[in-house]
Amino acid sequence: MSEAENLFERIIAREIPAEIVHETSNTLAFRDINPQAKTHVLVVPKTRYRNVAELAAEPRLLAEVITTARTVAELEGIVESGYRVVFNTERDAGQTVFHVHAHVLGGEQLGFFGR
Ligand code: IMP
Repeated sequence: MSEAENLFERIIAREIPAEIVHETSNTLAFRDINPQAKTHVLVVPKTRYRNVAELAAEPRLLAEVITTARTVAELEGIVESGYRVVFNTERDAGQTVFHVHAHVLGGEQLGFFGR
């Protein structure tokens, strides 16, 4: 497995430092190292699925990732103001780490995105 592939496994194993925001038995939430918004937290399942398409085969775990994203939003105080949950999936979406992760973005007005 390449460095980019096992980066999040190493964060989960506490081998690489990260600012952990929340943890459940099956998920971990930590701050993105290069934040794109005032709040930018990544939520990962502790077991590796390459992307959200693969994670969709495990609906309960997918739901736990989304629930953890909501808990992060609550902890960050951005449920009312709003937040965005994004799964970049493969090349055209710019996925760079192939351990599925939900980006939780908010804390300020977000721009539209696309092309
Ligand atoms: P992707 O482009 O959707 O795959 O997102 C990967 C994210 O991981 C990017 O937003 C990076 O800034 C973030 N990232 C890369 N390395 C680290 C790290 O060591 N800690 C926290 N976030 C990281």
